[in-house]
Amino acid sequence: MFTNKEEFINEFELRIAEMYGRSVEQSHRTEKYMALGEMVREYASLNWKATKEEVAKNEDKQMFYFSMEFLIGRLLTNNLMNLGIYNTVKEGLQELGIDINELEDLESDAGLGNGGLGRLAACFLDSLASLQLPGNGNCIRYQYGLFRQKIDQEGNQVEVPDQWLKLGNIWEVRKPKHAVNVKFWGHVNVSQDQEGRFHFDHVDAENILAVPYDMPVVGKGTKETNTLRLWSAEASDILPSNKDFRKYLAEVQEICLNVYPDDSTPEGKILRLKQQYFFVCAGLNAIIRAHLRVYPNLDNLVDKVAIQLNDTHPVLAIPELMRILMDDYGYEWMDAWNMVVKVMAYTNHTILQEALEKWPVDYIRNLLPRIYMIIEEINNRFQNKIAIEYPGDSDMAHRVEIIRDDQVHMANLAVIGSHSINGVAKIHSEIIKRDLFKDFVKIYPERFNNKTNGITQRRWLYYSNPQLTKLITNTIGSDFIDDFEKIEELMNHVDDKNLQQEFLHVKQQRKEILVEEIKNRTGILVDSTSIFDVQAKRLHAYKRQLLNVLHIIYQYQRIKSDPTYTIHPRTYIFAAKAAPAYVFAKKVIKLINKLSVVINNDPAVKGMIKVVFIPNYSVSLAEVLMNAADVSEQISTAGKEASGTGNMKFMMNGAITLGTLDGANVEIDELVGRENDVIFGLTVEEVAALKPYYRARNYYDNDPRIHNAIDSLVDGTWSSDPNEFKVIVDDLLYRNDEYLVLADFDAYVKAQEVIEQKYLNKEEWAKSCLVNVAKSHFFSSDRTIRQYAEDIWHIRPIKI
Ligand SMILES: *Cc1c(COP(=O)(O)O)cnc(C)c1O
Repeated sequence: MFTNKEEFINEFELRIAEMYGRSVEQSHRTEKYMALGEMVREYASLNWKATKEEVAKNEDKQMFYFSMEFLIGRLLTNNLMNLGIYNTVKEGLQELGIDINELEDLESDAGLGNGGLGRLAACFLDSLASLQLPGNGNCIRYQYGLFRQKIDQEGNQVEVPDQWLKLGNIWEVRKPKHAVNVKFWGHVNVSQDQEGRFHFDHVDAENILAVPYDMPVVGKGTKETNTLRLWSAEASDILPSNKDFRKYLAEVQEICLNVYPDDSTPEGKILRLKQQYFFVCAGLNAIIRAHLRVYPNLDNLVDKVAIQLNDTHPVLAIPELMRILMDDYGYEWMDAWNMVVKVMAYTNHTILQEALEKWPVDYIRNLLPRIYMIIEEINNRFQNKIAIEYPGDSDMAHRVEIIRDDQVHMANLAVIGSHSINGVAKIHSEIIKRDLFKDFVKIYPERFNNKTNGITQRRWLYYSNPQLTKLITNTIGSDFIDDFEKIEELMNHVDDKNLQQEFLHVKQQRKEILVEEIKNRTGILVDSTSIFDVQAKRLHAYKRQLLNVLHIIYQYQRIKSDPTYTIHPRTYIFAAKAAPAYVFAKKVIKLINKLSVVINNDPAVKGMIKVVFIPNYSVSLAEVLMNAADVSEQISTAGKEASGTGNMKFMMNGAITLGTLDGANVEIDELVGRENDVIFGLTVEEVAALKPYYRARNYYDNDPRIHNAIDSLVDGTWSSDPNEFKVIVDDLLYRNDEYLVLADFDAYVKAQEVIEQKYLNKEEWAKSCLVNVAKSHFFSSDRTIRQYAEDIWHIRPIKI
């Protein structure tokens, strides 16, 4: 492997010649990119091999993170940086006349997820490797990632397939040797042998071959290299006898075709269920086989393997591991069950009723007959336990049932089959204990805990914001790079006027980079000296982009009607994808785009407001968006956002949070203090108290600002078709505004005024931003992962 620039150049030239039979000069850009990618992967592979050998030799316990989603983004920069060879490669390429940025831009985002949940999994992988912890990902190799979003002439979201594999995935290695057979459909024959033991034979099943593609996960400043294993469905050698081959093949290909473009409501159920079992079954069987290559049997499995279930999507791992232990390896029920519970841990990500997974009994019984038998047995045994421990409380027994009203309740299965259940922010963990899982807290109080989410400062600060990283280094030295808690030393300098000026200068640089990006992506020119007020996240009613929109409409109307009213120029920036079937969310996107056209082109506004919707929110967009923000909009209805991680990315880059006391905003507020953020709106308790009496109509009738803003939605201001935005009005007034947008409107207007006042005092503003940066180490996923490793997984750093 190359160790300096000259060696890199030689190897690169050789590689291009070997792969494409050409000189570097004659090779195409994509060929250069592929060659470089291959070199970097090989570079990582040496450490990969060493890591695996070391784990086996030391008999270390390993963790496997089972997640339907890994929103990884691009890896070239990240891997070059983490490997510490970025500058060598950059300079080598430069000498060959190649701009490394051009090659970086050729990489497609690995968009194997919807949003926060998938990005969390990706940040966790980076932290695991960087902390030298043996922790691996298990997921699906989706042919297409989450759709790419385009905006048409009318402002509508248009979904375009995300062909992320078009150039191939330079990071993956196909491992056909480790393929696993996965069985669907068919039925189970039960028989008894001479010793009276039962045997379960899954017959007439449709077999599908799961083939793993492994991606190395390289940590920073370590040789430790973990694995993200992505499973791909292929035709099995055992073909179904009763089905046309082409039909079978189409069904096989469908399994990994795409990411489910909906993170709130389960749809297309059977296929989604297939996906879930597919990657869980494959992942578990591979883990068992790997274990048996090192150890004589599975008796010590719980000492060597921990599995974290990211939400309920992979919860079939619980009955599947039972199946493997009992049917394949002869363990008795109780022994198997004790092992399963010790291996499994579950993370809850939502309390939204519509997002809690429930499967019709028929679906599971038909698609996964043996798994269904096991779920039934888990349910029966648990019901017996409750009958004994809580005699007379039949209501409790009913509430904790896994199978209830002909549906399988996955969250209940998860809680019963895991030794640890965690929420993802302090307030969220309290809410799930108080509401969603309150019965289970009585039964298993010791299982519940909190692990506040985090983000990797490497991607979200060092690599995406080198300007700020350099400023911090110049101020407190570079120790914080490897020991991120040290960034708090910045607190000793937040009053330094010079530093405040330099911070504002860095922010200005980042804003100008975003201005360029906005121009390229939308054609809109924005003023980099205006306040950049950013709301970037999935579009969902509970996240209340609509509250932001109503406030913009109010300001716009006020500017038009009151010539003396002026505000500091503000650019309202949105980025959000809506689930394709989510009508309300798509209307809000359209409305934002209409606002943008009307307001940006209205001379009466005198440049005081601009509205920008940047299409196709993704990790690579977030990398230029978050660090250019002045204001971070985190305005969900209190109690609805489990944690949020976008809020952390903004904070780490010195944006001021404008938020409700929801999710991790609560902890941000505790850390930075009320003078360094702007908190508004109903609290969780106030929401609960108001709900039974809430009448949205009263707010419309009594507050002319609300009245006028809502009326504008149906009077042709934003669309020549007055019915265009009627669904939004209906949602607010006739469906009584489920997320209390109108109830928080007044508080939000006032909070926005506070933001402006604060911003006008530049030095105080810069100081607040610096406090946010200094306190952000708490939201490093390194902190989160250390807590998981210590409290739940019991894994230790490995030394190579
Ligand atoms: C961080 C991130 C999210 C999560 O944002 P929230 O504001 O926490 O909902 C979603 N999508 C992408 C691309 C992200 O980078």
